[in-house]
Amino acid sequence: MKIHEYQAKEVLKSFGVAVPNGRVATTADEARAIAEELGGRAVVKAQVHAGGRGKAGGVKVVANPDEAAEFAAGLLGSNLITAQTGPQGVPVNTVLVEEPVDIAQELYLSVTVDGAAKSPVIIASAAGGMEIEEIAEESPEKITQVHIDPLIGYQPFVGRRVAAALELDAALARPFGALLGGIVNAFQNKDLNLVEINPLVVTGDGSLLAADGKIDTDENSHFRHRDLAELRDADQEDPLERNANDKGVQYVKLDGDVGCMVNGAGLAMATMDVIAQVGHAPANFLDVGGGGTEEQVAEAFKIIVSDPDVKKVLINVFGGILRCDVLANGIVSAYKEVDVNVPIIVRMTGTNAEEGAEILRNSDITVAVAADLNDAATKVAEIN
Ligand code: GDP
Ligand code: MN
Repeated sequence: MKIHEYQAKEVLKSFGVAVPNGRVATTADEARAIAEELGGRAVVKAQVHAGGRGKAGGVKVVANPDEAAEFAAGLLGSNLITAQTGPQGVPVNTVLVEEPVDIAQELYLSVTVDGAAKSPVIIASAAGGMEIEEIAEESPEKITQVHIDPLIGYQPFVGRRVAAALELDAALARPFGALLGGIVNAFQNKDLNLVEINPLVVTGDGSLLAADGKIDTDENSHFRHRDLAELRDADQEDPLERNANDKGVQYVKLDGDVGCMVNGAGLAMATMDVIAQVGHAPANFLDVGGGGTEEQVAEAFKIIVSDPDVKKVLINVFGGILRCDVLANGIVSAYKEVDVNVPIIVRMTGTNAEEGAEILRNSDITVAVAADLNDAATKVAEIN
């Protein structure tokens, strides 16, 4: 789960990472008052769950409190569209007003999980300020990766190695090591998926400061990190995805036109491949789960057909704990509650597949039942 920059900075601060002084505002007057407290000059930053704010006009260094108020007024209540958001953008409900940082150098620093290496990895670059994807594409030699043994944890030599790769001043090696240790500890103690600081600033007087902070938490660990779970900002989530997730359905919107409903993430991936093989593209990833209920199936069905981009629907289920008769009943009941204007193709196999097919046949809804996955793919290509 993504959290806001100001929240990420509070987490990092509690692990000893230096961040600029500042506070959040939800009105222009508050933004003015904070800028006054900070001495007049300030940086005003839109708080949204997306990067690329700088280039999109979401970050500004202002010269005085009135300018802070004016810039905040323009941002608050608007939608910010960045390279990382959809075309409709994300709403700005808070701004962070901070002391401006005197930037001598911008570094990139992050910690995430390297699934292939089965361990956390530190990713660092002296080419900070840019998006890491851009650096990776244009000059991958400027990126350093150092893995951390999860059983041993952070060790000072790791800090020295990364500091050397970044060609930092010798005087900065020790403070950099301490800062990196704080970041790695935050990552491990809070069970995070990602901590990213871009830029990590070397200031004019030679200290280190996290000018930006991005954290992605692991929702599976929220039961033991209630403090993180409480930071959720549902306003930043896609409404369809939010509704689905609230109902226990894994849903991710994609840009194709074939809506798909599947049980199990592996089968969902395979289904998306099959759709691509017949020249189409999936409109979403949707996993009702191995133990989906009739209500979840009905909810998932409604979510898919309410997406205006969906031109046909493929339901592909391997009956196990979710039996095919339960699936069929879910489809029939949801079908009657919503307007269905697109063809529906169903392929089901496994537990109670016959009973499921019987339920669909005896209902008064129109679906094409496929014999197997290849037949389903052919029907996706042919039925309009
Ligand atoms: P992002 O674009 O969403 O990643 O937002 P950032 O917080 O990284 O801000 C974008 C850019 O604004 C940074 O790369 C800096 O160059 C600049 N910036 C952010 N804070 C300050 C500041 O305090 N002083 C100055 N001079 N520039 C800043
Ligand atoms: Mn940034």
